[in-house]
Amino acid sequence: MKCPCCNRELFEGYIYNSSNPVQWIPNGKKPPRIVFRETEAGVSLKNKFDLFKIGTYHAEAYYCEACHLVIAPTE
Ligand SMILES: [Zn+2]
Repeated sequence: MKCPCCNRELFEGYIYNSSNPVQWIPNGKKPPRIVFRETEAGVSLKNKFDLFKIGTYHAEAYYCEACHLVIAPTE
């Protein structure tokens, strides 16, 4: 995947969260209070849940070193 700003190749990686799916949540909205849930106001990133490491979510994400930018696909 290429950076939309500088067109360099992005580094592959992930964003980790322990007990809730990784989401982008708009300002003024609250994160979910219950574990393993998403908030309705949020946009879910492409999460992978690992049953064997209980309570771990990994959202696919890419990093541009030049622009200091993280890009994460949503579901
Ligand atoms: Zn860039």
